[in-house]
Amino acid sequence: MFELPILPYSYDALEPYIDAKTMEIHYTKHHQTYINKLNDTLEKATALQGLSVQSLLSDLSQIPEEYVESVKNNGGGHYNHTMYWNSMSPNPKSLESPALISDITHTFGDLENLKEEINKAALQRFGSGWAWLSLFNGKLFVESTLNQDSPISLGHKPILGVDVWEHAYYLKYQNRRDEYLTAWWNVIDWSYVERLYLDSAIVIA
Ligand code: MN
Repeated sequence: MFELPILPYSYDALEPYIDAKTMEIHYTKHHQTYINKLNDTLEKATALQGLSVQSLLSDLSQIPEEYVESVKNNGGGHYNHTMYWNSMSPNPKSLESPALISDITHTFGDLENLKEEINKAALQRFGSGWAWLSLFNGKLFVESTLNQDSPISLGHKPILGVDVWEHAYYLKYQNRRDEYLTAWWNVIDWSYVERLYLDSAIVIA
């Protein structure tokens, strides 16, 4: 059964960018609920037990029809949030990998353009969802998904994702999603993004 992964910092560690109350509720309530519901589903779907979330989401066609919705939403919720927590840090490292720097420069012009593209995708996401930097066929691109849908269900490999559900920012930023995005970039730990970019076998959750 799945468990809430360890948060690698305290609830207030990302202040003032991400406030302690949001962190606490987001992690202990929202993320925990995805895990509880995923576990409830797996209790019934015995054939799926023992698989990583990543492998469950990678091929939703293998999931019995009655469980697909729950695995997609709650498995996606677990996977996406695990990546989200780990991509942030109170001591964020800057982008250093020559391979990733060169790929970003080649694809987006520069890091600032990449950030703008992700912000645009995040702002255009109507309702709840995520914006991502992903890889497909070895190529970097920006995409957005609805609800807890994960890029890995589309055969993509996300290496950075921003949660734009209102629960991720409403307490501090209310309707100002753009301000949350600007703040979020301050706590992005590029060493984690680089690890995902360089290691194709890494299992997030
Ligand atoms: Mn969330």
